[in-house]
Amino acid sequence: MNNTQLLPQVQAFLDKPHQLFIGGQWCAAADGGTFTVENPATTQVIAEVADAAEDDVNAAVAAARDTLDTEWKQVSPSERTRLMLRLADAIEAHAEELGQIITLENGKPYTNAQQGEVRITANIIRYFAGWPSKIEGSTIPVSPSSGEPMLNYTLREPVGVCALVVPWNFPLSMCAWKLGPALATGCASVLKPAEQTPLVAIRLVELIEACGFPAGTVNLITGFGAKAGAPLAAHPGVDKIAFTGSTQVGRLIAQAATGNMKKVSLELGGKSPNIILPDADIKRAAKGAADGIFYNQGQVCTAASRLYVHDSVLDQILDELSSHAAKHVVGPGLAADTTMGPLVSAAQHRTVSGYLERAANEGAELICGGQRPEGLETGHFLEPTVFLDASEQACIAREEIFGPVVTVMSWSDVDELVHRANNTPYGLAAGLWTNDLRQAHTIAAELKAGSVWVNCWNVVDPASPFGGYKQSGWGREMGKNVIDAYTETKSVFVSLAG
Ligand code: ADP
Repeated sequence: MNNTQLLPQVQAFLDKPHQLFIGGQWCAAADGGTFTVENPATTQVIAEVADAAEDDVNAAVAAARDTLDTEWKQVSPSERTRLMLRLADAIEAHAEELGQIITLENGKPYTNAQQGEVRITANIIRYFAGWPSKIEGSTIPVSPSSGEPMLNYTLREPVGVCALVVPWNFPLSMCAWKLGPALATGCASVLKPAEQTPLVAIRLVELIEACGFPAGTVNLITGFGAKAGAPLAAHPGVDKIAFTGSTQVGRLIAQAATGNMKKVSLELGGKSPNIILPDADIKRAAKGAADGIFYNQGQVCTAASRLYVHDSVLDQILDELSSHAAKHVVGPGLAADTTMGPLVSAAQHRTVSGYLERAANEGAELICGGQRPEGLETGHFLEPTVFLDASEQACIAREEIFGPVVTVMSWSDVDELVHRANNTPYGLAAGLWTNDLRQAHTIAAELKAGSVWVNCWNVVDPASPFGGYKQSGWGREMGKNVIDAYTETKSVFVSLAG
């Protein structure tokens, strides 16, 4: 096992104090509190981080408001573009360092972090850097009943101070999903990373600082959900909250936001159906099914966790799927040959293990996995796991597990299949594998999901809308849709009467 050596700048970063960033200043939490961050591959503490509370949230919101109305407001659209392009370049220039930090705190394989997540993050910022000069209003041919001549036009303005609350599964790119549109539209932000993975967000904010954005444009609050996230969600000075995380916390955020009727966008859980039709390219479909559930240790809101396979190809798919599972090298993310890292935390490992126990009790057949891999006694490791024939009512067929666990179910009648696929409170993603054009487009239209993937999985692009039906969320991120979510539209009427 050939371990990637820690870069000296990463070690230096880990060793220094990790503070909040408020109004352009790095500072300790007002009450001096800190918490520790763990490496999920070793369970060792790797850093100590400021533990923000309500006073810090108040200061960060005030700093954001201050620059929103002054310095940041003066920055022209083309200058916003220039600053954002500089940030995208900085992210790429620090790809190795950012990648190592992601792997250290989240656990994912280094290649997925450095070549995957960091590159995606730079691309997202670069895409949104193109927007500032293209956020246009319109002139509207109105017909006042008075007959008075009237000019009517719309202005698009930043929605204001945005709270950006992000999860731990993609600790860097999730920041970009929200910072990209916030910066492009001229909003000021308070970013709150997850308590499990604050480090890469801190490093990102250091890069933002170095790019020359006005002080207060991006503020950083590290800490826990109840102590730092909740006061942010309830804060009367916050105009919009954008959240990615569990449906349970999304509900709390939506409730907290009603105090001042914040605009809310929510990207929540999923239990996504992946459907294999009898005519599909079996090898490709099985590989897609394996990648769809095992990528990122299954800790993906769009994980392909319900696999519906046509009766006639079930045995072949199970063989292929099991062999993909067996090929995974589970280990520390910094080891060169690792293809699957640990789960993010002991709590997550407990949750997923609990589902494995329940699956056995509910009569599902374990095809492979389900154990801690041999030789990996410390760290939150779990084998890629395949279950067959769970009932539609079983927990593993209904609830989001957020681990590398797929439930395979067979089908024979296509109408019934679509009903089963849609029979979930979630509606984030869905996929199908077929070469039959008619079936592909017909089923894609029937599936109740924000993203439908045909002969592919997990394709997400900054230019294309992403979000959930039903309890998978509110609103859409990415593309032109998200620009609406970070702007207010003002309608201006000017009487042209003499
Ligand atoms: P997960 O269940 O995947 O850990 P969560 O939904 O709990 O994800 O957390 C996602 C983000 O929401 C994290 O940054 C977390 O700190 C934050 N969070 C958790 N609880 C709250 C809350 N009550 N209000 C605001 N933010 C919260």
